[in-house]
Amino acid sequence: MLWLASDSIFVWSKAPWKLPSLPLIWIPQNGIHNRLEFLRNSTASWKSLRDSHSSHRAYYWFLFFADDVFLIPAGSRSILGSVNGKEPEVKDTELYAALLRLPKPWRVREVKLDLASERVDVWLEHDPHAKWNCPECAKTAPVYDHAEEAHWRHLDTCDCLTYVHARLPRVNCPTHGVRQVKPGWASSGLAITDLFECRVIDTLKECDVTGTKRLTRTSWDEAWHIMEKAVDRGLARKERRVPAQLSIDEKAFAKRHRYETLVCDCARGTVEYVTDNRQQGSLEQYYRQFTPEELTGIEAVAMDMWDPYIAATKAYVPGAESKIVFDKFHVVRIVTDAVDKVRRNEHKMLTSEGDDRLKGTKHLWLYNEENVPEWRKEEFDAIRGTHLKTGRAWAIKEALRGLWGFSYPKRAEAFFRRWYFWATHSRLNPVIAAAKTLSCHLPNILTYFKHRISNATAEGLNSKIQMVKEMACGFRNREHYKTAIYFHCGGLDLYPRAQATA
Ligand SMILES: [Zn+2]
Repeated sequence: MLWLASDSIFVWSKAPWKLPSLPLIWIPQNGIHNRLEFLRNSTASWKSLRDSHSSHRAYYWFLFFADDVFLIPAGSRSILGSVNGKEPEVKDTELYAALLRLPKPWRVREVKLDLASERVDVWLEHDPHAKWNCPECAKTAPVYDHAEEAHWRHLDTCDCLTYVHARLPRVNCPTHGVRQVKPGWASSGLAITDLFECRVIDTLKECDVTGTKRLTRTSWDEAWHIMEKAVDRGLARKERRVPAQLSIDEKAFAKRHRYETLVCDCARGTVEYVTDNRQQGSLEQYYRQFTPEELTGIEAVAMDMWDPYIAATKAYVPGAESKIVFDKFHVVRIVTDAVDKVRRNEHKMLTSEGDDRLKGTKHLWLYNEENVPEWRKEEFDAIRGTHLKTGRAWAIKEALRGLWGFSYPKRAEAFFRRWYFWATHSRLNPVIAAAKTLSCHLPNILTYFKHRISNATAEGLNSKIQMVKEMACGFRNREHYKTAIYFHCGGLDLYPRAQATA
């Protein structure tokens, strides 16, 4: 027997284990079957259920909820909210009307189960006296005729593909002419219900398109199209606003040095804008969306020391000189690159003298001190103790990282001056060059102490984007790449609007 509560379906059965024949709801297969097998074999839990309710009739509820099956002793059925002790039996049509959360005046006419092809088809019909509104102006209009039968994929019923069928009425609006009424269960115009679309979106958030395709039994194109639709919807709904703290970053796309420019909102940790290349014009595209008044709302912009970004920001953001913050990570990387150059030169020189001490140590010198892996620490300490030029360069780089620990900009500046003296007197040409570059850009390195922002947020996003890229095998298609970034990192409202209930 079937019994329906607000959000659950209960199936009435007799113990010990006698599975009801339930052509409609219970299909023993896959996960559900395994769960039942598990319950059947787990004598301990079975017993405890039975024993603790031995005074009751030996009846149990099977509770099917999402993909789980629970056993509930019949003795506790008062918690299920049965009215007057009667258990109303539910017809399959009523069951589906409730499951589909059908808006009035729709109801279920027929439900058909085809077990062989694991498919449930549900036909809807509407109250013949129902009043319909024109989808354009929302005014009541007389029915003109009915469109051909259409179908929408819905959430599976116990692993059976489930389709909803209906003939939508067409109204004759005095103003807009003949228009088809919108189905209350499918708002996006796709041949899927809103509930199924939400499920696919949720699945896409958790895994790549190929995984989604497999889990939701859609095609790659269908799953991808749902992602695109969701992003379009999210972008259209996106509130127009300029974040107070921005972070600009470039992300290599595919191979061959193609880049995307990413504009991120530091506070929200979202990608606000993705645009091709990393030229001045790329970033200007973002700024150009806003009025000069809106752009004054930008308080700080974290970025790499990349001239096109600096120029674009200076051209559009009022007071940019004191708002640009060169990101800590990128600043240190300039010196780290210098360390690597020192190592390469020194390794070449040592090798020519038959000394291969630096062989295989490239990555060791790129680590920050605290990140050297445990198993290489001994090796690293030993090589640092041999007074190599590379070791000196590395020490200079490590010292620079102390800059961001200061509280006051004046102290930080004094620290930088001391560091600069050390670096420029190191007789290590790459290090000297790096120090000079930093010195030229010092004012906007020190703006950090006013705004305290970095690309850290964007870098966190970058790792998410990296994951997005790996998910889709490199996205040879640039637009696909952007869509996936907005989907996963855009902080957008992606879901179809909840169905209107009459
Ligand atoms: Zn109208």
